[in-house]
Amino acid sequence: MPDAECVRLYALREVIGDCHRCPLGDTRTTLVFGVGDPHARVMLIGEAPGRNEDLTGVPFVGAAGRFLDELLAHAGLKRGEVYIANVLKCRPPGNRNPAPAEVETCTPFLLEQIELIDPVVIVTLGNFATRVVLQTSESITALRGTVRTAGTRRVLPIFHPAAAIYDRSKRDVLVADFALLRALLAESQ
Ligand code: URA
Repeated sequence: MPDAECVRLYALREVIGDCHRCPLGDTRTTLVFGVGDPHARVMLIGEAPGRNEDLTGVPFVGAAGRFLDELLAHAGLKRGEVYIANVLKCRPPGNRNPAPAEVETCTPFLLEQIELIDPVVIVTLGNFATRVVLQTSESITALRGTVRTAGTRRVLPIFHPAAAIYDRSKRDVLVADFALLRALLAESQ
């Protein structure tokens, strides 16, 4: 029988429904709720679905997702052991940046997912997720690789893996940040 958190996560998905609370509901193909272990110790939060995610309903399945899987291995993790979601559940057309009103509309659902999954560490991927989770206007360049807190949780802001596809110098930085994630998990066993 599914446990209470799974039932509540499923209920949250039902509440979101065929969402048209913002205009992205008219242009998306598939709403991307989130995937992974509902009891994960690590929750990764990206920006918004891209084209592949919009078609499949699964976060991080494109090139950035393949790189994310490689990075997870540096922390000793497999995709199925973490939970992955985005700030926005629907793709902004042409992969433009999320608009402030879209972030505001979608954020309560993300915050409820965080409460239900109750991770030990939240990894925020890029500026948008970092700003939402840490309620900050500081840039990811200033924050990356530093361990922060949000309530009782530890938060590790990192570059978005897509940024490393165009700027290879960010790859080594991301690998180092996933090694830090491994250490954080080891110390909070
Ligand atoms: N980029 C994101 O931020 N999220 C995805 O799901 C895919 C690409």
